[in-house]
Amino acid sequence: MKTKNIGAGITPPENKCEDNKCPFHGKIKVRGRIFVGTVIAAKMQRTATIEWTRRIIIPKYERYARKKTKLKAHNPDCIKAEDGEIVKIMECTPISKTVNFVIVEKLGKEKGFIQKKEALESSKKPASEKIESKEVEKEESQEDNKSVV
Ligand SMILES: [Zn+2]
Repeated sequence: MKTKNIGAGITPPENKCEDNKCPFHGKIKVRGRIFVGTVIAAKMQRTATIEWTRRIIIPKYERYARKKTKLKAHNPDCIKAEDGEIVKIMECTPISKTVNFVIVEKLGKEKGFIQKKEALESSKKPASEKIESKEVEKEESQEDNKSVV
């Protein structure tokens, strides 16, 4: 299968694939907006969730606010982006109800992505820490009893 050149300064991937919904080897046509973001979930088959932050101006306070944008993009077999990778996505003809973007290029790994993810997961588990502290209290009280006897 021939590798199509999709233009817009994007270098086609070295790999080839049989994916029908690939912009380089399939029938999908790309046009429109281009974004750069980080892959935060690539577990779905040939679909990845991309997230990036953007700044918006709040005129009332003359300040910037950071906002996150999340969207789903098709992950072709010849690109196969993984969690934590920075990718370029491009708008395309709708692939499904929620997917109308496709990953067209990999730009490298985001530094500290794994650490960030681990920190997020450990912050979600406060319950186990509570149990541990309770056990410590019990032990201390037993020792107190012994010393009295
Ligand atoms: Zn392909």
